[in-house]
Amino acid sequence: MKKISLIFILILMICFVLSCGKNHEEYKIETEKREACSGNLRDIGNAIYSYELSNNKLPENLEILIEQHHLKSLPVCPISGEAYVYEKKSASYKVLCPNPEKHVGLL
Ligand SMILES: [Zn+2]
Repeated sequence: MKKISLIFILILMICFVLSCGKNHEEYKIETEKREACSGNLRDIGNAIYSYELSNNKLPENLEILIEQHHLKSLPVCPISGEAYVYEKKSASYKVLCPNPEKHVGLL
């Protein structure tokens, strides 16, 4: 009887270790995607800055950045594949990830 429960505990421990390894791998992939997402936000920010320098105003939308060759293509968030949100106010702007809540562990 004791042997059986020992084996059972051993199996549980192995499962625990295996699941930790898997979570670590997922976490690593998640981190890479998150870094790619911030890289995309940085690229868009640089393109907006470059547009502003040439046009003396903020772009009306992100598409114009491509038309004027400040950006090769519009990146999407690597986690959801959705486009970034551009919010323009009179003298400032925001570029937001469409779903920061999907970035596990972000902030
Ligand atoms: Zn994102």
